[in-house]
Amino acid sequence: MFIIFAAKTKETDMSPRPKHLRRIAQMPRIAGFHPYSLRDTGEQKEPVFLHYEEHEALRQMDYLRKDQAVAAEEMNVSRPTFTRIYKEARCKIATALLEGRQLIIEGGKVCMDEQWNMCHHCHSKFYRSPGELQPIRCPLCNSNDCSQMTYREEEMDV
Ligand SMILES: [Zn+2]
Repeated sequence: MFIIFAAKTKETDMSPRPKHLRRIAQMPRIAGFHPYSLRDTGEQKEPVFLHYEEHEALRQMDYLRKDQAVAAEEMNVSRPTFTRIYKEARCKIATALLEGRQLIIEGGKVCMDEQWNMCHHCHSKFYRSPGELQPIRCPLCNSNDCSQMTYREEEMDV
């Protein structure tokens, strides 16, 4: 389904154009992990929730082994913000591992490049859910003269 975030002109001032979204290159392949063969019989602890941006930070740093500055740029966040996200991610993974907790990967303040689209007819920007199979059509004017936005276009607020 479509979610319209920005209208045709700035004057409408109805544009909660999402700020501070962390850019992720792909959605996690799995929804989480279950521990098995718990050695103590203590009560089941609460799951640990790893957010999508934390998953992405781990992917950038520990899987792709990127430099932190590069990873921060990839995710469109400042270095300190990236460091905070990354540290939190590692802390959560460690907690799940050491305490035998379930790990659930969900939520977060993220966006993906291919989710943002622009209508060249009425200049609205709109969002499509990942995996949307219908051809791109503007939800406002129904034009099919639409294209996916690159991240740079989104930044420039065209
Ligand atoms: Zn349109």
